[in-house]
Amino acid sequence: VLEHSRACWHRVHELFGESANLTTDVSIWFNPAFKIQGHPFLWTLWSSRVISRLSEVWGPSGLLSFPALQEAFQLPSTEFFQYMQLRSCLRGVPALAPGLLPTSPIVDIKRRFQNNKGGVAKIYASLLSRVPPDRLSTKAQWEKELGHSLSEDGWEEALGSPTQAGTDLRVRLIQFKIINRLYWPPSRLTASGLRESDLCWRCGFEKGDTLHMLWKCEKLHPFIREITGYSLMDSLINYILGINLIRAKVSKIAWELIQLALSSAKCVILRHWWQEEPPSVREWLLLMADTAVHEQVIRKSRNKLSQLRSIWSFFLDRVSEIG
Ligand SMILES: [Zn+2]
Repeated sequence: VLEHSRACWHRVHELFGESANLTTDVSIWFNPAFKIQGHPFLWTLWSSRVISRLSEVWGPSGLLSFPALQEAFQLPSTEFFQYMQLRSCLRGVPALAPGLLPTSPIVDIKRRFQNNKGGVAKIYASLLSRVPPDRLSTKAQWEKELGHSLSEDGWEEALGSPTQAGTDLRVRLIQFKIINRLYWPPSRLTASGLRESDLCWRCGFEKGDTLHMLWKCEKLHPFIREITGYSLMDSLINYILGINLIRAKVSKIAWELIQLALSSAKCVILRHWWQEEPPSVREWLLLMADTAVHEQVIRKSRNKLSQLRSIWSFFLDRVSEIG
């Protein structure tokens, strides 16, 4: 959970083109940007006096004076030595200049939408509409894994795919995280020194990169084959990136259903991300049923119930085909 929160924190700052380690809201403790004798640090006494964020010790003219800190946080005089250490540590941070620091975009967004109706939807929309200064690296990583290049249009479509993944925000968020490569496959954990073997933890004998974990792993094949039938799986990129899913002409209803089925399949696979056991078709059906309830609520509110019935009758036909 911590790992994931940290990844999200970094990703949002990246989206906003800001340093994740130098805002008013960053923690002083264990911050990789702040080091004493080469290591991030934590002082429990300071922390127990509720000093944690950079903004608590940093003012318009840089680090606050020791008497000011003493007064604000009841620090004993014996802490002066630590204060001197903190001062020299912060002086050594090149990007940190006296003056007002930017607020973290995460805290900003939270304040902006707090207590608002539909707050989560707005936060999500705000993140989706963000274009980070440079997204090429993510595109390049996908190209490397897929083994061929993506056109600008195709990439644009992939970036917009979360909004096509049904009306459920959680499902959309999952597609958003896939596109932006926020899930850590074994290969990435190994490259970051967090795991010894880069082999897939499901099959145990192939390199576990994102593509393998979401699709290529042979332990997933029975699951994917049952859900998608035969036609869709020809195209790996389309499935993963949610682009150009239909080459043959199908009705709008079938198209929406295929989107939902694929999004739900990815959700179920990601639920089993850390497990050896591949997901089951039953689980996928249950999630689809959940989605049906959700879609019903949404469409009821939009007076589109008849549309829903035709979509789900299509789904139920398919389910009876699967058996
Ligand atoms: Zn595998």
